[in-house]
Amino acid sequence: MLSCREVEKMVMPYIDEKLGEDELDEFLEHIWSCDSCREELEIYYTVFEGLRQLDSGIGVFDITGALEESMELAWLKVRAAKLRRVVRYAVETLCATGVLTVLILQIRIWYQSGFLG
Ligand SMILES: [Zn+2]
Repeated sequence: MLSCREVEKMVMPYIDEKLGEDELDEFLEHIWSCDSCREELEIYYTVFEGLRQLDSGIGVFDITGALEESMELAWLKVRAAKLRRVVRYAVETLCATGVLTVLILQIRIWYQSGFLG
């Protein structure tokens, strides 16, 4: 679990979408369980997202809604990354198991045919 100080340092990278998937995961976990960091993020997000909106001239905008959306997207990104990892692991395990099974069957065949003595 990250400390509040560590999370504070990640607020700007979060807004700039520069956190890696693992960092994002820990960051969100903390934000969801820590009111003071969440407030901090809301303030920063409101300020910086507001400035960005002004710059791009989009105008009046639901910034709190945008933060919710941003956190949901970030969460989905983390979930997707984890799922990819699980699927890859499962496929690798299946392959390894498959190879092992074939090997065992082959050895049995050799054994039964007297090839191994
Ligand atoms: Zn905190």
